[in-house]
Amino acid sequence: MISYDVIEHGKPLQKILKETPRPTGTEVLVRVTRSGVCHSDLHIWDGYFDLGGGKRFYVRDRGCIPPFTLGHEPFGIVEALGPKAKGVRIGQKRIVFPWIGCGKCPVCKSGQDNYCVSGSRFLGVNRAGAYASHVLVPHPKYLVDAGGIDDAFAATLACSGLTTYSAAAKLPDLGPKDWVAVIGCGGLGLVCVSVLRAKGVKNVIACDIDPAKLEAAKALGAKLTLDTRAPDATPKLAALATGNLAGAIDLVGMPATAALGLGALRKGGRYVLCGLFGGELVHPLPPFAQRAIGIVGSYVGNLQELKEVVALAKRRKLKSTPVTVRPASEVTAILEDLKAGRVLGRAVLEFA
Ligand SMILES: [Zn+2]
Ligand SMILES: [Zn+2]
Repeated sequence: MISYDVIEHGKPLQKILKETPRPTGTEVLVRVTRSGVCHSDLHIWDGYFDLGGGKRFYVRDRGCIPPFTLGHEPFGIVEALGPKAKGVRIGQKRIVFPWIGCGKCPVCKSGQDNYCVSGSRFLGVNRAGAYASHVLVPHPKYLVDAGGIDDAFAATLACSGLTTYSAAAKLPDLGPKDWVAVIGCGGLGLVCVSVLRAKGVKNVIACDIDPAKLEAAKALGAKLTLDTRAPDATPKLAALATGNLAGAIDLVGMPATAALGLGALRKGGRYVLCGLFGGELVHPLPPFAQRAIGIVGSYVGNLQELKEVVALAKRRKLKSTPVTVRPASEVTAILEDLKAGRVLGRAVLEFA
């Protein structure tokens, strides 16, 4: 097999030839055909997350030490099965759910692998990921059928589709006059607009600094858009929502976007934070109580939620976001493009 590995943080990925693993027990070997490139990979590639105030969280402290293989949006074909792997056949095309927990702790047993408390096995984070021709999956239950969905778009559902679906589920109950802001219209933000529309949310305001991304959000069904470079972006957002901004989903996660989302919410509204850009939140405390505002973090999603978002895509309710398929050998250039904001929607690696 081949993989494109991080050998040193921030340096070009290296093509590595290695032995193809043999599945044992319940394991399944999937030959990767499509693999999405996610913005969060940039942080792991760089080796740290920015905690603000000059502080950093280093991925090596979570055991993410080079060399390793990134990639947590895998799609491919079942190539080999361990002797105890049941319910899947060689040759079947599947999305791989990457947010695999230990499988033993109470949180995993309740179906929330993504919040595992005792030993995550996230593909592309703690385990070898899908910037590779093959990926080893611990159990067939983590494979999701995506028949009828374009292969490249299907790959992106494993992170960007799932993450935004799970974030949307954390919004408060929405009335007919309520609005939701999607802050940041990169790969996640665009699919977030699609997800909200598929769930029947009509009043969506897309927010970004890039007019091309706002156009794309509009094409996916955002009713209004806001260029957040405006100095009075927060009152503008509140006004666009006619004072009824019930939810803000922040796919950027920097001080300016947090200030925008929190500042524009109506009383009782909720700010859902997904983005990992970095920084810290400094905010007066009384208004949280006085305005009854909720802040909730949302990290990827669980297997059931992946099945639900895939079902939406199968029923053609979920509009496909712009997806560009590029050869896997271009992975470093894609990461650079992503860092510079030059990717519209999602770039997906193709393994021939
Ligand atoms: Zn991701
Ligand atoms: Zn667990």
